[in-house]
Amino acid sequence: MVNVKLIDRKSKALTPSRLRCLSHLPTINMTAGCMHGCAYCYIRGYSQYPGDDAVVVYRNTAEQVEQELKRKRKRPVAVYFCPSSDAFMPVDEVLEQSYCTMKLLLEQDVGVQFVTKGAIPDRFIDLFAAKPELIAGQVGLTTLDDQLNAAIEPGTAPANRRLNDLRRLVDIGATASLRADPLICGVTDGDANLETLFVAAAERGVSDVSASYLFLRPAIVGSLKRSLADKELLQRIFVPFDQADAASLRGGEGGGKSLPLEVRRANLDRIRQIAERFGLTLCICGCKNSDMTSSKCHLTNLSATARTMKKVIAPTLFGG
Ligand code: SF4
Repeated sequence: MVNVKLIDRKSKALTPSRLRCLSHLPTINMTAGCMHGCAYCYIRGYSQYPGDDAVVVYRNTAEQVEQELKRKRKRPVAVYFCPSSDAFMPVDEVLEQSYCTMKLLLEQDVGVQFVTKGAIPDRFIDLFAAKPELIAGQVGLTTLDDQLNAAIEPGTAPANRRLNDLRRLVDIGATASLRADPLICGVTDGDANLETLFVAAAERGVSDVSASYLFLRPAIVGSLKRSLADKELLQRIFVPFDQADAASLRGGEGGGKSLPLEVRRANLDRIRQIAERFGLTLCICGCKNSDMTSSKCHLTNLSATARTMKKVIAPTLFGG
């Protein structure tokens, strides 16, 4: 039973992100908390996290965004949903707020960019189909093994549903990519798993995939220990971090542990080769791999999308 609480937001709806990947766009969260319940999710360590069976929904978000846009000297290219929640979690109140807010943005020719592990309802696809050039969606998925997904991200949509949403985004002409993140070394990064995943994405018309490995913040370690009943799986997740590097997310909050650089470099190179076999281009997150790349937006691929949007939207929106 989900405990849904509707509240008025006390702060701005459109906020800058401290992650370099998102630094050029305002971001928005529709909720505090997320019913997808991913065991590796960092929001479980946030002070405003309402608990695993609760979600706090910010009401009147569309109206608030409309007011905030009026006060901006320059309209943003797009708004990114949602750095610390999911606009498509299966809660009616959340979906309603997401729909109204995305509709408002699109009516004002402001792009909608999102990442989701949920199921995108039909009415959103219909909304996006009217202005596909303003839509960039990433679907998070690391394995087609629904039993494993049920253990590590129990409230997310089934793998096939997520793949079919990718196809629907591609079919309407939106920018759509697969986000294989966070990959778990020794659990979801094997050749067979990734070949199955990548071929399924390629069959849906996807040509870009972003990949990154699990980054162990202290709150994530605690969450994994609390959430996973399968102790053998837990052990498999933690063992590769025995020789881990202390690292910090570039521009993000706090520190944590990354897999050793040489392990990430070798594995991501292997993953790139697998992706290329299926016609996919691999992007690597610069925030989580600041020792490998200095570029930004390698996970969300938003720069490329923004460039595309710049060509198709009235140049005045970009001040150019
Ligand atoms: S979908 Fe995203 S925000 Fe929601 S629990 Fe999973 S990782 Fe966290």
